[in-house]
Amino acid sequence: MSETITVFEDHSKQRIEYSTCYMCACRCGIKVTVENNNIRFIQGNREHPTNRGVLCAKGSAGIMKQNSPAKLHHPLLRKPGTARGAGEFVPISWNEALDMLTKRLQHIRSTDPNRLAFFTGRDQMQALTGLWAQQFGTLNWAAHGGFCSVNMAAGGLYMMPFAFWEFGDPDWDRTKYFMLWGVAEDHASNPIKIALEGLKRRGAKFVAVNPARTGYQAIADEWVAIRPGTDGLLALSMVHVLLKHELFDWDFLIRYTNAPFLVIQHPGHSDDGLFWRTESGEPYAWDMCQKTFVTGTDAGIAPSLLGDYQTPDGKTVKTVFSVLAEKYLDEAYAPERVAETTGVPAETIERLALEMAHVAFEETIEIACEWTDWAGRKHDRFIGRPVSMYAMRGVSAHSNGFQSARAIHLLQILLGTIDCPGGFCAKPPYPKPVPPPIKPAQHSAPNTPLKSSPLGYPTAPEDLVIDEQGRPKRIDKAFSWESPLAIQGLLHMVITNAHNYDPYRIDTLMLFMANMAWNSSMNTAEIQKMLVAKDPEDGEYRIPFIVVSDAFHSEMVNFADLVLPDTTYLERYDTLSMLDRPISETDAVCDSIRHPILEPNRDVRAWQEVLVDLAGRLGFPAFVNAKGEPRYKGYKDFIVYYEKEPGIGFLSGWRGEKGDQHLRGAPNPKQWEAYIEHKSFFQYHLPMSLRYFRSANKDYLEFAVEAGYIPEAKPILIELYSEPLQKFRLAGLGLYDGPQPKDPVDRERLATYFDPLPIWYEPLEQQRVDAEEYPFFAVNQRPMMMYHSWDSQNAWLRQIIAQNYLYMNRERGEQMGIKDQSWVWVESHNGKIRVQVKLIEGCQHNTVWTWNAIGKQSGAWGLTPDAPEATRGFLMNHLISELLPDKQGERRLTNSDPITGQAAWYDLRVRVYPAAPGEEGVWPTFPTIKPLPEEPKQPDRLRYHTHNPVNLKS
Ligand code: SF4
Repeated sequence: MSETITVFEDHSKQRIEYSTCYMCACRCGIKVTVENNNIRFIQGNREHPTNRGVLCAKGSAGIMKQNSPAKLHHPLLRKPGTARGAGEFVPISWNEALDMLTKRLQHIRSTDPNRLAFFTGRDQMQALTGLWAQQFGTLNWAAHGGFCSVNMAAGGLYMMPFAFWEFGDPDWDRTKYFMLWGVAEDHASNPIKIALEGLKRRGAKFVAVNPARTGYQAIADEWVAIRPGTDGLLALSMVHVLLKHELFDWDFLIRYTNAPFLVIQHPGHSDDGLFWRTESGEPYAWDMCQKTFVTGTDAGIAPSLLGDYQTPDGKTVKTVFSVLAEKYLDEAYAPERVAETTGVPAETIERLALEMAHVAFEETIEIACEWTDWAGRKHDRFIGRPVSMYAMRGVSAHSNGFQSARAIHLLQILLGTIDCPGGFCAKPPYPKPVPPPIKPAQHSAPNTPLKSSPLGYPTAPEDLVIDEQGRPKRIDKAFSWESPLAIQGLLHMVITNAHNYDPYRIDTLMLFMANMAWNSSMNTAEIQKMLVAKDPEDGEYRIPFIVVSDAFHSEMVNFADLVLPDTTYLERYDTLSMLDRPISETDAVCDSIRHPILEPNRDVRAWQEVLVDLAGRLGFPAFVNAKGEPRYKGYKDFIVYYEKEPGIGFLSGWRGEKGDQHLRGAPNPKQWEAYIEHKSFFQYHLPMSLRYFRSANKDYLEFAVEAGYIPEAKPILIELYSEPLQKFRLAGLGLYDGPQPKDPVDRERLATYFDPLPIWYEPLEQQRVDAEEYPFFAVNQRPMMMYHSWDSQNAWLRQIIAQNYLYMNRERGEQMGIKDQSWVWVESHNGKIRVQVKLIEGCQHNTVWTWNAIGKQSGAWGLTPDAPEATRGFLMNHLISELLPDKQGERRLTNSDPITGQAAWYDLRVRVYPAAPGEEGVWPTFPTIKPLPEEPKQPDRLRYHTHNPVNLKS
């Protein structure tokens, strides 16, 4: 019997394109079906290494991002004669906009380039924006890492050849025990979901350490309800347990770490705590067989892990591991001593540590594969300790996050679980030297590119970006005594410092997708005042000119003097480059692209194109030819022909004139076409012999040199003990042979927090706030269904959540007389808000939390003024201050990690109490933002269609 199949979809007018999702930082591969210059479907690309076909709700809702009424339509100029922030704009042409901006930038560049501050929020093109800033000659450039997760990056990269965040991943297919620290569901969304499913099927144990049991934690085999900001202490207590039971990987520590190096014990002197070194600068170790001091980095030695010795000139030296063991065997780290502070019972701490040790040492896995170590020694297998961890913003956004990230890494290192089968593995271009060998630029001069990138990795006080008096040279004070290792800058301090002329007045603030007037700053209301504040002397704005580039009408647009409308991610060229933030997997080098799939129906230009255009107009040496004419026709051309070094460019695939070379090769004029033909990604699988122990794997190191990832094929040691941190500590103690801070506040911070071994301390704000007066920790989580702030105007995602609540432990709330869905006041030392409560079981007793970025200012994001996001959504930012609470006799300090400058927006403490009868509705509220000229009206129902229905009865 024949059946007639009813066709509902007419494919004849459709085309399929492949690209990379931009709806969160995972960068999944997408398959886009286009019909009539509209998107019909977005699906996952089954061949893509990141998501293997999986697509989340955000990814498919990219359709509604494209159809958003919040899209900007024209370049806009603040209407002459109107006040900044009044929301009055006039459309101008791109020529007018770029001529005006070029003139302004030309003047700044030829007089004092640092008067331009260029900061980016959404930051997946840092290799371009950083190069642009370097060529402009301003020190004042960074992306949003200082607000987001720099502690994870820096904590890792000052200790290990890679880190959490995008630098590494668990060996998901082999791990048997996985511990997830402080991760909300917005991060690594599809990859973690796919991986957790795999773990569950294989019966691996999944432990979640988090104050809230949401998302990933809801399917954990064990939820550890930790008190916020105490992760580092929990990790160090587990270190204590491992050391007490002598459960650590001796061989791993000797082979791959600086544990055997000898540390000088000379309190009160400039060499105290530094390595004892040979004349050529190599650290010494003690050889157990030869019974003598040897160069610790030599092959073929038998270094002692434990011991203290006398040097020929009478100094006492101790192995790193002896110093470490003495420190963490102290009873201060015993589980019963830390249980109350962390909120984790002592027996749980002990059991978790022993469970991990059991899996690491009793359930090892082996992969038969010949590989060669750095010294040329052959091995016939990789031995894996299948315990892995991952950590993110919940650890990062505290002012002790740098040291806490290091504490978690220390736990992994003792268990020998780094870059081994089943452990936590690097993603190319990592591993890299510890820390990566790039120093931040220190000097700027008119019309001159900086000698290096504005951001880098200081290893000693000499590398700070300060003047002769020790004052910061950067507007965000990165790399100053206040934030010495601020390797990703301090986006959250730019407006406050620029407003205060601290350390100087800037001319132009240029922001790309950074919503500083709302939820990308701490202290929203005060920041809005700063953006419109005028100087009483000259009557000018304290921040004279603000340029905003964004695709959407965010709250920040309202405060711009010049608005440069960006395209959507489906309308532009883009790279996820090995020079920047690639999409590599632990076993493969991967990068990817986006390319224009749709024609913009507005007068918009991709920010990347604008930057390349401006670079040509301004005559940046790297962007012009010998005649001073623009060298590149646009971003697409720039990506093809720019080479960081011969043969190394932004894209790794299909290089060489014929497109037949990978990783290194001459520019290929048809490279974009090759990527598009190969579904917009490139993948190079590492052979098995190059997949593990890569910091000491000869063949991998040679491969990495050839690919341009590292400068030389030398083994890279894990720095359990950080000599760079000790140098800063010596500077704080007044003992360093080199620059030292003058201000006692800086001295004390360096001496206290720059411990060369991981430490835990109470977060800085909490040290200054009365815990009895403010008994709750208060944290924000990024919601899985919205990434940062960029998708909360999305018509589909709004249906999942359009209002946030304050989540609170049910038992605790009921004890306080707080009912579910009632209104409460939440007060911090900095402000108060009125919000609606939800009582839940999955929340640590002393913690309240909410979803970040749901609350919107009325009228922004193309929403109607009475949208629930504006009338019932709220931000915790109103409670947070970008400055620490005042302390008598001290200058105001940033509310940030004292080492990296990471914004400490998770350090908040609050009190919560019921609102009085009749007190309802969120507070504070803000005035409605005016619609932009020619902005389409928000329809009552936002619908789209690409064709009339086929074979459907209407
Ligand atoms: S996980 Fe992120 S990148 Fe992947 S589909 Fe979802 S939103 Fe897009």
